[in-house]
Amino acid sequence: EVEIAIKVVVVGNGAVGKSSMIQRYCKGIFTKDYKKTIGVDFLERQIEVNNEEVRLMLWDTAGQEEFDAITKAYYRGAQACVLAFSVVDRDSFEAIESWKRKVEAEVGEISMVIVQNKIDMIDEALIQPEEAEALAKKLRLRFYNTSVKENINVDEVFRYLTEKYLEK
Ligand code: GDP
Ligand code: MG
Repeated sequence: EVEIAIKVVVVGNGAVGKSSMIQRYCKGIFTKDYKKTIGVDFLERQIEVNNEEVRLMLWDTAGQEEFDAITKAYYRGAQACVLAFSVVDRDSFEAIESWKRKVEAEVGEISMVIVQNKIDMIDEALIQPEEAEALAKKLRLRFYNTSVKENINVDEVFRYLTEKYLEK
């Protein structure tokens, strides 16, 4: 029986892999041509952490992040947040602090994690490893390298966020 449900928002610039990450984690699939509109506000997955059944509700944006039009309803009640950027998109890396501020302006301080996605494209990286580490250190957040495509570290990100949330 599930007693704990956590609303997780996944934010970051367009095309960094947010929708793909949610789909990967909740449905176990990766498609190259992921349709922007999944028709629902969130997908969910249940996991066991510290002998507790936890339901994670992962909220997706329908592409509104591209024109800065994410509604308050998206953030409302969020208890955890993934700040995502892509290793092959410099702007997305530079936008992380501003995404953090946006989330905190709406819901205050919640459990957060920084994710650098598309690590399978490391040969074309536009961000140095030290830069990403420095940002994580500055913002005092845990940092994960993921590849949604190769299914690297995706489970770990959400497990960590859940543990962090339960600690509070
Ligand atoms: P969103 O705009 O942040 O929701 O990004 P999407 O999930 O729509 O992904 C944008 C594009 O990046 C799509 O073509 C995905 O297939 C691709 N993508 C997502 N994650 C990865 C990854 O880990 N590696 C690679 N190579 N491509 C990815
Ligand atoms: Mg998307």
